Amino acid sequence: MSDPVSRRGFLKSSVLVAGASAGLPLPTFAIGKKVQIAIACSSNGLPYITEALEKLEKGQDTLDVAVEAVNHVESDPKDMSVGYGGLPNAEGIVELDSCCMHGPTNNAGSVGSLRNIKNPSRVARDVLWHTDHVMLVGEGALRFARMMGHKEENLLTEAARKRWLHWKLSHSQKDDWLEPHEKRPKMKKEKDGKRETGTINFNCCNAKGEVSGVTTTSGLAWKIPGRVGDSPIIGAGLYVDGKIGSAGSTGMGECVIVSCGAHTVVEALRRGMHPKDACLHGVKRAAEMNRMPNRVNKKGRPSFQVNFYAVDVKGQVGGAAIYPTRYAKGDAQGAKLCDSASLYSSW
Ligand code: ASP
Repeated sequence: MSDPVSRRGFLKSSVLVAGASAGLPLPTFAIGKKVQIAIACSSNGLPYITEALEKLEKGQDTLDVAVEAVNHVESDPKDMSVGYGGLPNAEGIVELDSCCMHGPTNNAGSVGSLRNIKNPSRVARDVLWHTDHVMLVGEGALRFARMMGHKEENLLTEAARKRWLHWKLSHSQKDDWLEPHEKRPKMKKEKDGKRETGTINFNCCNAKGEVSGVTTTSGLAWKIPGRVGDSPIIGAGLYVDGKIGSAGSTGMGECVIVSCGAHTVVEALRRGMHPKDACLHGVKRAAEMNRMPNRVNKKGRPSFQVNFYAVDVKGQVGGAAIYPTRYAKGDAQGAKLCDSASLYSSW
């Protein structure tokens, strides 16, 4: 459970109040406008939006609603991009990344390269509420998770192990591993011929205009052990400003990190952009920051996908990606998949 009146939260709120009375610039969005409860997330969040809307309606804290929504995906062995059952690193070990931010306090928590814990988003939330740090990684993050009472378990499912083994066997004809005897296990999304990735990002806004967000992933399949993507990086895979909105990303993490993706989107919201346009702005920055020749396709376009999702403090939502895809949204009309705005119409 979260602790909204923690020492750190209280101190930060006091600073905000003091700032306002000292005549510092007021937030872009005028207080008092009608706010609608709203959610913007990656498409794998769709099944959990209705439950999350109900919780927001009942007044549950926005961060807890977001974390509980992504916990479903983290615990689902069939989603091979997040939590339990996620595709492992090059050594066959599942390493998870997650971060979260709570808009009412602007507090953040994050874990990187966390092993053996199914719900890294909960550990990130524990970092947020129970420490004065923002980010814990590797062995330190695991020890912290143990101290907070999280159960350790093997996260590598048989299905994920088989995919990893197939990758290992097909690596090279010059190493000591023989070509696989079995046919290659079917991969879900490999449009650009690269390996499968995936993540869930979930952002919500309640009727008071409070926003929070969370991002959680097993990261790039077969990554070099210790590789940390954008998902646990505050400002890249997620950024929340309690006075502006919440935004997050999925897709090629390295390109989101170098473009400070989610922060770029929230800053565009601050300048008054609609979340859809702000997400498209973030996508453009991620694409134009790429100078790696191995990440350009035959048409001279990015050979990778980047997606952003955002909700602002008025409850407006939007999503955009480099290439056409969909994102999920929730509001008074219910939960649905929508087309993301896109930079290019085809790969
Ligand atoms: N952004 C994730 C990462 O780079 C992967 C993904 O969303 O597909 O770790």
